[in-house]
Amino acid sequence: MNTRQPGRVVIVGTGATGYTAAKVLRAEGFTGSVTLIGNEQEATYRRPAVSKELLLGTKSVDQVQLGAAIDGVDVRTGVTATAVSDSAVQLDDGDQVPYDALLLATGSRARQLDRLGSGHVFTLRSAADVAPLHADILRTGSLLVIGGGLIGCEAAAAARSLGAEVTVLEAASTPLSRIAPAEISQMYRDLHGDNGITIHTDVSVTELEKLPDGTLRATAQDGRSWSAGTVLVSVGSVANIELGADMGLETASGILVDAEMRTSAAGIYAAGDVAEVPNTILGGSYRSEHWNGAVDQATRAARSILGLDVGDLDVPWGWSTQHGVNLQFAGWTSADDEYVVVRGSIEDRRFTACALRGDTLVGAIGVGYPKDIRQIRSLISSGDRVDRDLLGEDWLDQPHAVVR
Ligand SMILES: Cc1cc2nc3c(=O)[nH]c(=O)nc-3n(C[C@H](O)[C@H](O)[C@H](O)COP(=O)(O)OP(=O)(O)OC[C@H]3O[C@@H](n4cnc5c(N)ncnc54)[C@H](O)[C@@H]3O)c2cc1C
Repeated sequence: MNTRQPGRVVIVGTGATGYTAAKVLRAEGFTGSVTLIGNEQEATYRRPAVSKELLLGTKSVDQVQLGAAIDGVDVRTGVTATAVSDSAVQLDDGDQVPYDALLLATGSRARQLDRLGSGHVFTLRSAADVAPLHADILRTGSLLVIGGGLIGCEAAAAARSLGAEVTVLEAASTPLSRIAPAEISQMYRDLHGDNGITIHTDVSVTELEKLPDGTLRATAQDGRSWSAGTVLVSVGSVANIELGADMGLETASGILVDAEMRTSAAGIYAAGDVAEVPNTILGGSYRSEHWNGAVDQATRAARSILGLDVGDLDVPWGWSTQHGVNLQFAGWTSADDEYVVVRGSIEDRRFTACALRGDTLVGAIGVGYPKDIRQIRSLISSGDRVDRDLLGEDWLDQPHAVVR
């Protein structure tokens, strides 16, 4: 055993990050104790299924488990870590779990719209959120989704498949505006329109009231209003940084880590949705908020705890499925980037588009060509500049389109 290795590793959070880290520790031959602590009741499941198969009701939580139990890992579900000292984690069942190395994998939670109150609205983050929302959608037959991001749009699609009337209200001028330019957002608007869902944009909901007949009415700043039986608020996520912040770790929108997932305190690591990692390619830092980022960072954290080489941070990528259309995106795309379609066409809902800032390739977004997205990820990580005049149908097969 590497002499730098700790004897006891404690991981808080049983999501993709916590589970993967525990698995990698064992796979790398770590023989010390591993304790995995999570406040959800379920063993680790695939969270992306929450707004897809689970809300649709086509799969149960048991059918979307992440993997088998890991040998020799003490898994404690249904308990919350309430505080961390420099040597132990305090649990809400009164137990204290000592550690030599600690991984904070506490993920994030659904952002609330405080001004609307929480009495009548649903949020969607965990398996436990699904059954009450699913039942309410079936009971009322109509859903208003506040927030036209990825999860809001996925939930809208699922509710429509359940037979509900669905309307989406988005504060920005386009849906999916955090990752996609106007043309791709429009494609999604049309896709939802074709499936009977209207997306209203530039809507800032300021009031939600329950009418005498039990329906809910959302009123926007400009006076427009919409009513439905069920309301889902899906306006982004907030990282669960409190355990780290309370013990004095450096934080921003997440717990700040270096490329080896080390926080500002020795022996304490953070990874996944809760972590803010350095962007080693474009500079600055970011929170991944996608499945593959969680898995990649968990692997790095486990290797880092064991004193093993971690290599370069992966270029992040994610996916979203709405009405059977599978969108893939990579890098750091935003509505403000310049996009060049290098294969297919957005109109046909089958394309690959590169996102450029100047002559720097910063990301890609596409439908139907996953291999392109993989290839573009490696081009992004190379940091090479792109000759935009050569970007076109067969650009991916022409290395000369990249200039050094
Ligand atoms: C509805 C939904 C759909 C998604 N769909 C996609 C998708 O299609 N594609 C994609 O790439 N990504 C998707 N994502 C994002 C992806 O699921 C997340 O990035 C990933 O699950 C993050 O994993 P994590 O383990 O870091 O955090 P989480 O999955 O949030 O896990 C953290 C765990 O820690 C627990 N916890 C927090 N604080 C404490 C505490 N004090 N004590 C004990 N336990 C604690 C939490 O309850 C949670 O169980 C989706 C996310 C959601 C919510």
